[in-house]
Amino acid sequence: MKRAIISDIHSNLEAFESVLNDIESQGITEIFSLGDTVGYGPNPVECLELVRKKVAVCLLGNHDQASLYDPEGFNNSAERAIFWTREQLENPRIAGASERWEFLNSLPRIYRDGDTLYVHGSPRNPLNEYVFQDDIYNERKMERLFSVIPRYSFQGHTHVPGIFTEDREFYTPDEVNMRYTLGSKKVMINVGSVGQPRDRDPRACYVVLEDNIVTYRRVEYPLEKTIEKIMPIAELDSYLGQRLRDGK
Ligand code: ZN
Repeated sequence: MKRAIISDIHSNLEAFESVLNDIESQGITEIFSLGDTVGYGPNPVECLELVRKKVAVCLLGNHDQASLYDPEGFNNSAERAIFWTREQLENPRIAGASERWEFLNSLPRIYRDGDTLYVHGSPRNPLNEYVFQDDIYNERKMERLFSVIPRYSFQGHTHVPGIFTEDREFYTPDEVNMRYTLGSKKVMINVGSVGQPRDRDPRACYVVLEDNIVTYRRVEYPLEKTIEKIMPIAELDSYLGQRLRDGK
């Protein structure tokens, strides 16, 4: 079994295409995506179409949901990006609007495969809850989260890759030399973000799961091209472009 697990593409077509190339160059044909295909970036339609073509299991993220319904709990720039995204997805001049809605509407919030759970945010609140590194000190939260995980959980949402262990440790991908072996203990694996990394490494991030080995991959992509597309779109805050350079 060999599977690529990606998340948080966020309408960044250049990052997504580069990651797809990296996946295909390893002969991997099965791709799971943990949601937030859209939001923030300049190519929501193209990213959604590619996901429909290439991804076997795609989950609903909070930005995807907000594009379908009403955005709640987003900051101003994220909210404006969501309304702009909705306009693009609904645009009758771009063919396939109703199929795009149907597809977004059909996405599950959770997917379970044996003893592995796939979610966007957290195992107990799959759409909206963040699990950050500092949460290892929040005993109550960690206990609850681990209590609902069969054994492993793959998640995204924070855009910060890393591994949370049942022993309340957190490891960055660098700290484990980009490889982690799944054992008998419970773990939560954050796969990072394809289209808007926030761990100060601007390269796109995802993982490959091969049997019980998780390998982190970092992929360079032409981010200046993405930024050039963001800048002239008034509804997309220029900060959404600039942050791609810094990976934050
Ligand atoms: Zn996201």
